[in-house]
Amino acid sequence: MKNLYFAIILLLSPFFVFSQHLYEIDLNKIEKDVLPVKMTLSKAPQKDQVTYSFPATVPGTYDTQDFGRFVLSMNAKTADGKILKVKKQGNNSFVIYDAKKLKYLEYTLEDIMDRKVKKHPIFDPVATNFEEGKNFLFNNGGIFGFFTGEEAEAIEIKISKPSQLYGSTSLPQIQSNNGQQHFKANSYHQLIDCPIMFSVPDTAQFYVGNTKVTISVFDVNGVPRAKHFYEVLKRDMQAIDEFLPDLPVDNYTFIIYVDDLKEIGKAITGKMGLIKKIKLALKFRNLGLGALEHGNSSTYYLADLGVADIKELSLDNQLSGAAIHEFMHILTPLGLHSERIGNFNYTNPLMSKHLWLYEGVTEYFANLIKFKGGVISPDEYLKEMEAKLAQGLDFPVSEMSFTEMSEHVLEEKFHKHYGQVYMRGAVLAMLLDAEIQRLTSGQKSLIDVMLLLNARYGANRSFDEQTFIAELVKEVHPDLQNFFTLYVEGKNQWKPNDQLNYIGITYHDSLQESVLLSPFNPKDNDITLKAIGIGLEQLVVETGPNEWAGLKKGDIINLNDYRSAIEPNGQKLKEGEIAKLKVKRNNEVIILDVVVKYGMKEKKHVLRWMKNK
Ligand SMILES: [Zn+2]
Repeated sequence: MKNLYFAIILLLSPFFVFSQHLYEIDLNKIEKDVLPVKMTLSKAPQKDQVTYSFPATVPGTYDTQDFGRFVLSMNAKTADGKILKVKKQGNNSFVIYDAKKLKYLEYTLEDIMDRKVKKHPIFDPVATNFEEGKNFLFNNGGIFGFFTGEEAEAIEIKISKPSQLYGSTSLPQIQSNNGQQHFKANSYHQLIDCPIMFSVPDTAQFYVGNTKVTISVFDVNGVPRAKHFYEVLKRDMQAIDEFLPDLPVDNYTFIIYVDDLKEIGKAITGKMGLIKKIKLALKFRNLGLGALEHGNSSTYYLADLGVADIKELSLDNQLSGAAIHEFMHILTPLGLHSERIGNFNYTNPLMSKHLWLYEGVTEYFANLIKFKGGVISPDEYLKEMEAKLAQGLDFPVSEMSFTEMSEHVLEEKFHKHYGQVYMRGAVLAMLLDAEIQRLTSGQKSLIDVMLLLNARYGANRSFDEQTFIAELVKEVHPDLQNFFTLYVEGKNQWKPNDQLNYIGITYHDSLQESVLLSPFNPKDNDITLKAIGIGLEQLVVETGPNEWAGLKKGDIINLNDYRSAIEPNGQKLKEGEIAKLKVKRNNEVIILDVVVKYGMKEKKHVLRWMKNK
């Protein structure tokens, strides 16, 4: 009786049913990659005209998405089904007329991953994917819009779905059963911050301290991967746990989409025709491999290239490289950001000048954590930072400061240097860390200052875009301002030793070093090579009188084989020792005994640990 009584009240007062706009999506109703969405308004708008928009960009991407481009149709209806006039404005907005009568929006969406656009292509970890019965990736800026001025209001979402699919997300769930999942977002900002991936569950779960970590994987070929990724992520999360006093969240979800790009892997290792290879290599450069951070989750688009033997390209390496970085974004920008991010404007975004902080500090910490947590060795750590330093020198520092690049990152002139946030930005953070330690005689380091400011602001309070640097300086030492004035806000080239020497690292512009000579390098050996395609396989075209490894004209070598030959047990062979080198000669694989040689060479932009520190 009670239920029935309740139902009658609901019938009599339809607006009592829910106080939020309600979205309903049926994943069974997908047709040709087109997904219909229905939204019921909680109450009629007060104005004659309202605007419903999709984001031009979303936080963390520093790029244009224009999600409105993927809306195929938009209908606005009254309670009795009459159609109201709608006019599209720009790429992302729909103006609805006679809006006081508006009750429903019904629109259809296109699958972003499948429709590759040339202008402003969408980074795959931010895209949507609709694959009937298999996978639905909801990056919610591509699914849901907002009425101007209502970004802070709560939203309800009911998803009907095939029983074999389950949606993994950090979005609060009200209810779930075989055929339906019902979510509630406290605001549009939270909705954008919580992607959902529906797939046949391939999941793993573990605790690090008090944090519940969930891994949810979709592999396009159905290869189960969660158990294996668990090993990688558990190691990484433990390294983070050692670095931070506490993991700052109760729960965290890794949402991972694994694509099959073995064709490109084959091109890289050289097993197909030249033209096809070049085409594939060009395609590879435009791939959106990577990840995007959120408050309680991160989304990954990774590729199985079928080249597990090339460590840098392996799935584990793709995941591990990105996971620590994405997780550390909880400190910043998620837990420490300016009002330009805290009060994000999806339609006319104003970019913050503090990318040195959001991306630079995060990328530096990710590397520092790997080193301190034993994921990489101290020398591997310096090598990583050394590569970033060398690439960071390509930043046009006399033309633009780092803060200027950040603030204008959506403009082409500046956007082409965006990648420097992971290079120059990470090195600036390393120098900043050393400078903080130097100025406080080792009493404070960058992580201490970050944790302090993170506790002061947190996810829901923004710092002042203009005064933040002064505020940070105040927590350290007045002289720290010089560092920011010169290298972050100014257009001066860094002098790494001014900071790094204090923490036991020396920078050398160039250094004469004893290095291993490669029998495959024409600068080290008297041979001429010709690439077979653009892969790792090479043909020995000619050998001269000073050839020293025993190679012959017509041999086919693989550059990768040299690496494994000189490090048979993970340790580099010494001068005079014998490397067992694989070579293809007359269609047969033979093993050459090569005497290992070292020689003096000049290396540019080198970082070294100081011996006595
Ligand atoms: Zn990042």
